[in-house]
Amino acid sequence: MQFIDLKAQYEHLKSKIDKRIHNVLEHGQYIMGPEVQELEQNLADYVGVKHVITCANGTDALTLAMMVLDVKEGDAVFCPTFTFFATAEVIAYEGATPVFVDSDQDTFNICPVDLEKQIQKVIAEGELNPKAIIAVDLFGLPANYPALQKIADKYNLKLVEDAAQGFGGEINGQRAGSFGDIATTSFFPAKPLGCYGDGGAIFTNNDEYAELLRSYRVHGKGADKYDNVRIGMNSRLDTIQAAILLEKLAEFPTELKARNRAADKYSRELAGKYKIPVVPEGYVSSWAQYTLVSDDRDAEMANYKEQGVPTMVYYGTCMHQQTAFKELGYTDENFPIASRLASQVFSLPMHGYMAEVSF
Ligand SMILES: *Cc1c(COP(=O)(O)O)cnc(C)c1O
Repeated sequence: MQFIDLKAQYEHLKSKIDKRIHNVLEHGQYIMGPEVQELEQNLADYVGVKHVITCANGTDALTLAMMVLDVKEGDAVFCPTFTFFATAEVIAYEGATPVFVDSDQDTFNICPVDLEKQIQKVIAEGELNPKAIIAVDLFGLPANYPALQKIADKYNLKLVEDAAQGFGGEINGQRAGSFGDIATTSFFPAKPLGCYGDGGAIFTNNDEYAELLRSYRVHGKGADKYDNVRIGMNSRLDTIQAAILLEKLAEFPTELKARNRAADKYSRELAGKYKIPVVPEGYVSSWAQYTLVSDDRDAEMANYKEQGVPTMVYYGTCMHQQTAFKELGYTDENFPIASRLASQVFSLPMHGYMAEVSF
């Protein structure tokens, strides 16, 4: 059994994907070819936002969002401590200070109550300028955007949705990628919507942000390609990856249903044995991971291994425990829930082509 079966997906879509790649080889517009625009339009339609700007990967997507929001030295940007490194990395990369926030113990997402505490603490200390929040749709479940948006409004902060894992998720019919001021995603192969290399995208309804993002991703270009009006970066999605994603996006709704069926089946069979994932009323998860909590993770994982079922730990190290963020001076006592989750969670195989699994 595969943890994520990309081969089964390719077998299923082979003729369509091969044809798309062949088309690109024929027209030869490898950078910013017509498939890139077509994909941006289809992504905008699917997510329900005005603008989609594709880029080289999910980390760049977050970095570009930080650039547009003018995040810089002296700014505080709040993000969950229980996430993938890139969420916090892009804040520090801009010279700003990541301020970590504990998790909700049921959804594993950023805890709105602790977020407000951390914001008030930064305000009281008076050293940093509170600028933005990056919320993460961890394991495919959208964060609590209704609560987060209220906090962002109350403290005049920008809200960024890191939907690298959340693409396909929903809250009351509103799709992941459409929350906050700017949202980002990743097309890394193992994500719910992945390509065959690196890729990413940024979503926004803000015309001004969209124009800036299109400039930043190509060296800060102005109206004239060779007049660069600001300092940007080189972060485009390859045309071949866009071509592959066009076919994968068309199949995505079917795969999303299959992922949800697999998750429901896991939950029916494993409820009682473990704490199973919580999906709040009105929410849809894209199940980037199906994650269990156990007091004896090592023994559980060894047991699955014996049965031929691969498991993985996402994530065994919180941001406040990372060597690169040691100087921020946090301890596990600052984030009791996230620290406990990091020592207890493990994930089961999850993809859109699961054969019937039984335990
Ligand atoms: C994967 C991931 C990223 C980074 O995406 P890349 O395409 O690998 O750069 C950022 N945030 C989260 C939560 C992720 O899971």
